[in-house]
Amino acid sequence: MNHVKATILVVEDEQYIARVLETLLTADGYRVISAQNGAMARSHAFSHMPDVVLLDLGLPDIDGIQLLRELREQINLPVIVVSARNMEQDKVAALDNGADDYITKPFSAPELLARIRAVLRRRTTVAEGPANVYTVGGFSIDFDKRVVTVDGQPVRLTQVEYRIVELIARQPGKVLTYSHIINHIWGPYADAENNRILRVNMSNIRRKIEKDRMAPQYILTEIGIGYRMAEKT
Ligand code: CA
Repeated sequence: MNHVKATILVVEDEQYIARVLETLLTADGYRVISAQNGAMARSHAFSHMPDVVLLDLGLPDIDGIQLLRELREQINLPVIVVSARNMEQDKVAALDNGADDYITKPFSAPELLARIRAVLRRRTTVAEGPANVYTVGGFSIDFDKRVVTVDGQPVRLTQVEYRIVELIARQPGKVLTYSHIINHIWGPYADAENNRILRVNMSNIRRKIEKDRMAPQYILTEIGIGYRMAEKT
């Protein structure tokens, strides 16, 4: 039986890419709705209430970031931005405007499907209320007790280090931009100096939790963008 998993709205003006996405997602059991421009995307989003939106930022009739903001703020839809290669600034802007994740063209099919599953999973987890413990590999964080352990051994973190780890671990698999983390930890008056302080803290965190801090397994770096907590596989 072909079980329909979820509905995905594909917003993409390049027909070839739209067709590839439709074929791939349909084959994986998703129901797909397509929009070739921002106006169609808006109308489909409101009428179909998709579970996830795949959004190309370069649309003919509307600024992609503007559309992203509407979808997030007005209907609270999870959005994965599909962006061109090496557009770090676009990715940061997308994440800071509420995108749940991004994927870079040309993307691999397994990677795209994994990102979609992760977004759907996070949505379910949020609906069920926050988990009190998150574990991945040997790493574990207990949000009630505010304790981090690695391979069963408690890790001594400073207050700031713990808050950084907690913030990132609350949303496994989601990239948090440097500015998002800085605003969250140091507030709206943070400045460029906080960038450096964040890096120093992350370096210390990794020394404490990672086996090899040059090849981190738990808190991953998205170069030029931010950090992402590893997900359970
Ligand atoms: Ca485009």
